[in-house]
Amino acid sequence: MKHFIILLNILFVNISIAQDSTAIKSQVKHSIDELVDFVKIPNDALNADDIDSNLIWLRNKFNNRGFNTSILETENLPLFFAALPMDDSKPTILFYMHLDGQSVDAAKWDQPNPYETVLKSKDGDVWRTEAFEDLNDDINYDWRLFGRSTSDDKGPIVMFLNAIDLLKKNNVAIPFNVKVILDSEEEKSSKPLPEAVKQYRELLKADFLVINDGPVHASGKPTVIYGCRGITTLSLTTFGPIQPQHSGHYGNYAPNPGFQLTQLLANMKDKEGRVLIPGYYEGITLDDATKTVLKSVPDSDDLISEKLQFKTAEKVGAFYQEALQYPSLNIRGLGSGWIGERARTIVPATATAELDLRLVPESDGTRLKNLVKKYIANEGFYITDTMPTEQERMNHDKIAMIKEGSVTDAFRTDLNHSNGDFIVKVLQDKFQEDVVQIRIMGGTVPISPFINELKIPAFIVPMVNPDNNQHSPNENLKIGQIAYGIQTFYAILSTPLP
Ligand SMILES: [Zn+2]
Repeated sequence: MKHFIILLNILFVNISIAQDSTAIKSQVKHSIDELVDFVKIPNDALNADDIDSNLIWLRNKFNNRGFNTSILETENLPLFFAALPMDDSKPTILFYMHLDGQSVDAAKWDQPNPYETVLKSKDGDVWRTEAFEDLNDDINYDWRLFGRSTSDDKGPIVMFLNAIDLLKKNNVAIPFNVKVILDSEEEKSSKPLPEAVKQYRELLKADFLVINDGPVHASGKPTVIYGCRGITTLSLTTFGPIQPQHSGHYGNYAPNPGFQLTQLLANMKDKEGRVLIPGYYEGITLDDATKTVLKSVPDSDDLISEKLQFKTAEKVGAFYQEALQYPSLNIRGLGSGWIGERARTIVPATATAELDLRLVPESDGTRLKNLVKKYIANEGFYITDTMPTEQERMNHDKIAMIKEGSVTDAFRTDLNHSNGDFIVKVLQDKFQEDVVQIRIMGGTVPISPFINELKIPAFIVPMVNPDNNQHSPNENLKIGQIAYGIQTFYAILSTPLP
């Protein structure tokens, strides 16, 4: 009898998985049709009419699914907001995605129109165009949809809508209030967002924020990201003679700005890449539990160095993920005189280094810029933010002109936050796989100020393939990721908080 029950259970489980996958496949098919339709509407935020057409499409699609929608006016382009009817006894999730896409240069795409989605399969190294009619019941999850914003970020919006469809079909009561905010200027740095939070604070009120943008970890595994580094910049110029001078006549005599600059830069770091400027890493501690999570990310440091072709990594952290927990000090560009075929025998007049500083929550951007400036002053440089006058040149041996860029802050939600644990557990249970937890991503998202202004825990739950050519020609979305996205939204929206 016991065996029979077990057998019955196995049978039942198998049948339900089979049904599940049929239902999902038909929802995937529906999503593809809907995404093709959505991608057809150009979405370059430089063109306000494009954005309006997208808002009309969205309003229709969300209204049809029972959402109340509104267009939120801002100091620039409007935002899209949708919410299911509220129930005060339930916790509230706010989802963030964006409807705008990067500008396109159609000539660089392997298809006539980046807004006309093309279906492709991979044959060796070559992508072959497939007919949409061939997407029959047995959809090939390795095929891809090529078109602007298929991945970034219209795909996830469509996955969300189709997860809602499936929840309805299955009569699942959603144990949350669901709110959605869609940005129309993410690719143009989301400028109106932080102000909009102040204006629409009541509307956007939620217990936690889930951001569906960007790709999953390179391993392709389910991924949850808890933060992103911020950024600021410095431009640093040193000065030699007022005009470039003949190196025969004045070499050994006129001070060389290239040597001044490189000596200054060289002493900012030790030979293994650690910043030597006092206080630069202040406030950052990584306990053992945090290190365990960092180590659990399935990166291969060997593969990274092989791919980028360098022998030894810098030593700010002991491994890749650990290195990202610290602010960086990077020379992003360096110039003086002329180089290559155009090199001239001169003592140059100036030398310039462009620096970028990636920030973590412990390292305020203004504080770090001030530390760098203080260091330069301590090296005997006179500091100015404009071209030095003749008087200044005659009064100081070493002059540094420093121009400061604005600061975009980092954000990071605590790795131990219960809402994060909830999302990780839901993904683990759903996909029966380890979930990659990224404490902080190296790059910067323009919505950090928005997240910090909302003052609620935020988690990035990416939906799309890592090799999606985001922002580039031939942007694409792997069809299997649509199934992944629908199931992820479905799982989150059908599981009550513990
Ligand atoms: Zn995006």
